[in-house]
Amino acid sequence: MIDIFPWQNKQWQRFMEMQQQDRMPHAILLCGPEGIGLNRFAQTVAMQFLCLSKNPETNRACGTCQSCQLYAAGNHPDLNIIEPEESGKQLKIAQVRELIEYVGLKSFSGKLKIAIIEPADAMNRATANALLKTLEEPPSQSMLFLLSHRPSKLPITIRSRCQRIDFKPVYDETALGWLSKQTNDSELSTEALLRLSGGGPLKAMTLIEDEQLKFRLTLIKDLKLMGKKNCDPVQIASNWQSLGVENILSWLMKIILDLIRLKLLRERANLINLDLKEDLQDLVNSLDLVALVRNYDFVLLKYQQSAGPMNYNPLSILEEVVLHWNNPEIATEQRE
Ligand SMILES: [Zn+2]
Repeated sequence: MIDIFPWQNKQWQRFMEMQQQDRMPHAILLCGPEGIGLNRFAQTVAMQFLCLSKNPETNRACGTCQSCQLYAAGNHPDLNIIEPEESGKQLKIAQVRELIEYVGLKSFSGKLKIAIIEPADAMNRATANALLKTLEEPPSQSMLFLLSHRPSKLPITIRSRCQRIDFKPVYDETALGWLSKQTNDSELSTEALLRLSGGGPLKAMTLIEDEQLKFRLTLIKDLKLMGKKNCDPVQIASNWQSLGVENILSWLMKIILDLIRLKLLRERANLINLDLKEDLQDLVNSLDLVALVRNYDFVLLKYQQSAGPMNYNPLSILEEVVLHWNNPEIATEQRE
């Protein structure tokens, strides 16, 4: 039967207390970094409610009753998960309308109608407004889970009507122990992986197979090249393009942050790219702190543009970043 991850005990306890005191909210906003397991947590709580013969000792779903069997078969009529039809895209208003209709229906198990919206920040203004009325006057047998890695992107009207439960990034022994069981043959230590993932163990797992980790070395090599006169910005930008502009910019920000840390704190620097300390150290000596900070700001600006609603040409964004590297002041002035 589905269960929470070992680093989610605190949040689980909070739910159990709310349940015992009969104060379960109708709308719950689960927030935390990517890879912390919000979906699994929501589903475990949902099944704990929907199970017809819950284990009184563990407070977990039994796994064998009719309700649990329907869940295992992937079609429980009282549990509905909605997500964008295409990953990274917005939720459609029709999806939210269907969901509103669904939570208003009678529950099959005689318990609750539960819905999970992931990610909740994939709602635009119109979609969020459509949901708002349901949040204001929820059907008595309904429970909505809104999941988000970026809750600040949600309209305040939505946030204020949900009970918020936060999951912090995890770097502790529990997460490290779990991760080391999943990753037998990784070149990187579990600690380095967890740090690169931003404290999301599930995200850390996906990094192992990921070409992006190897690409960091290319980025560092290119940054070194970019400091030289004979570098070809167009060539570098077009090499980077294969990894996707958002990915490249996100890794560049992590690398630049590490370079800034090394400049300021030297040996005491707490690096994200712990495994590349020597390569970074080698690069940082030829760089200037003010230029690094300006370049960080510039890459962040370009990242926000590329992730925003406007369409930018990815290649020209990358070319701008490469050109900016050696002339951070000029480009910053131009921007203002
Ligand atoms: Zn059951």
